[in-house]
Amino acid sequence: MTNENNTLPTSSARVHILFNGYARDGETPAVSRVASTISFVREGAIRVIIDPGMTPDQNAILAPLAALGESPLSITDVVFSHHHPDHTLNAALFPNARFHDYWAIYHGDTWEDRPAEGYDLAPSIRLIETPGHTLQDITTLVGTPGGIVAFTHLWWSAEGPADDPLAADMQAIHTNRARVLQIATLIVPGHGASFTPGETTPR
Ligand SMILES: [Zn+2]
Ligand SMILES: [Zn+2]
Repeated sequence: MTNENNTLPTSSARVHILFNGYARDGETPAVSRVASTISFVREGAIRVIIDPGMTPDQNAILAPLAALGESPLSITDVVFSHHHPDHTLNAALFPNARFHDYWAIYHGDTWEDRPAEGYDLAPSIRLIETPGHTLQDITTLVGTPGGIVAFTHLWWSAEGPADDPLAADMQAIHTNRARVLQIATLIVPGHGASFTPGETTPR
């Protein structure tokens, strides 16, 4: 893997966390609670939702979006970090968006093949391929005035777990964590609040 995609041409996007996800074992063995960290990124006319997955209800996504003055109808792009339902279930809230995953862009009834590695949604918004949790995981890199933000499932939360209990390829996670830590100044993980990576951040 080359590192030519590790820098962004501009840093003019703005990021907002709409919902901080979680993953908790349930009171009964069969029922757990899980919600995705869901984010909104804006650069010019491009308005992106990342991981519109499970939440207690849809208002958990729509209310913070409305507070930013944004309509779900105005969302131009949705990114799926990977295909699990806890990160995709509410995608239909954004009927006008193009949908991005690791290998294609979907819009209406069109399916456009393309690799995610190095694909730019906007000058400050880039996708890179970071398999490990699943073999189809991608990370969204966003250049902001405050630094580069990585939206990624390489970490569940700042608190761990250090090793992904559902990893398809833990060694790939180690490799891709190292790559992302070289780039990002802020991590937005799959199931927790954003955090500044440091010496205790699992590699
Ligand atoms: Zn997953
Ligand atoms: Zn997840």
